[in-house]
Amino acid sequence: MHLARFPRLHLAHLPTPLEPLERLSKELGGPEIWIKRDDCTGMSTGGNKTRKLEFLMAEAEAMGADMVMTQGATQSNHARQTAAFAAKLGMKCHILLEDRTGYPDHNYNENGNVLLDHLHGATTERFPGGHDMPGEMERAAQAERQKDKLVYVIPGGGSNATGALGYANCAMELVNQANERGLVIDHLVHATGSSGTQAGLIVGLKALNAGIPLLGFGTRAPQEKQEQMVYDLACKTADKIGCSGVVTRADVRADTSYVGDGYGLPRADTLEAIRMFAELEGILLDPVYSGKGAAGLIDYCRKGKFKKAERVVFLHTGGAVGLFGYDSVLIPGTARMAAE
Ligand SMILES: *Cc1c(COP(=O)(O)O)cnc(C)c1O
Repeated sequence: MHLARFPRLHLAHLPTPLEPLERLSKELGGPEIWIKRDDCTGMSTGGNKTRKLEFLMAEAEAMGADMVMTQGATQSNHARQTAAFAAKLGMKCHILLEDRTGYPDHNYNENGNVLLDHLHGATTERFPGGHDMPGEMERAAQAERQKDKLVYVIPGGGSNATGALGYANCAMELVNQANERGLVIDHLVHATGSSGTQAGLIVGLKALNAGIPLLGFGTRAPQEKQEQMVYDLACKTADKIGCSGVVTRADVRADTSYVGDGYGLPRADTLEAIRMFAELEGILLDPVYSGKGAAGLIDYCRKGKFKKAERVVFLHTGGAVGLFGYDSVLIPGTARMAAE
């Protein structure tokens, strides 16, 4: 695994900090919880898409693209960060947004990530939930190509083998940090969605033979589908890196019990997790991804699924910008009630 062989832009703020969450660990009575701060990667506040976009946008630049196109949910963090990279590289950016929640309120539809998409100069186009977004994006890209634009198309979440390289690299960074400070990691957990983060991490961990079990907490798809998506992408990523066969199907584990009614719809335990991180650690989670990942983490701690003496690292994938699109479900009274 020698990632310098792949084109990459160096725009991320790396390495991201690895910090203990002492008050949260104490509140839960163990295990020892640590956080890997990938919410602090930079580029329009940061988040997990920065590491992927370093590799994706380097490819766009290498092919001479003057426009990038991508798609996601209305409050997509990936869309916001792609818009920021395009701005930095002087490329046009067009984003197709899918209404997966049906929330009618102004802030959900115009504030948070959507506000920043537009502030970075991207154009957006809206579609109803369940629309064929990849097909729509191909049509939109073809229309631009007919106008002589050189368009680089990025799949939703930046999740292909190129984007996943960013998380193979993150696995190396994390293992190095843990080695330097003498921290034995017993479990690594995070929120999983379009699957590039988990696929890249598992390839990196397995290629290093780190022996650290990885668990993704689902945010959309049911378990079998989520695991298969991650596994398929992990295999492609391993092939690309030159370590084919390093990941087995059994290495890919997702728990989708914390998704609730669907993508982008927070549950009471999502809101409780957001409140606990904010009040105990001064750290902002989000209602779509990291809040659900942290709800899974907290529930595993309470149920004793992690042993008291174990050390668990929560990879914070970012997303706090989305809080400003979710004020209607996050007003303090609501969050507190939901927690009780
Ligand atoms: C996209 C995203 C995820 C999920 O990462 P995938 O690579 O799509 O699985 C998790 N958290 C946040 C905040 C995200 O924006």
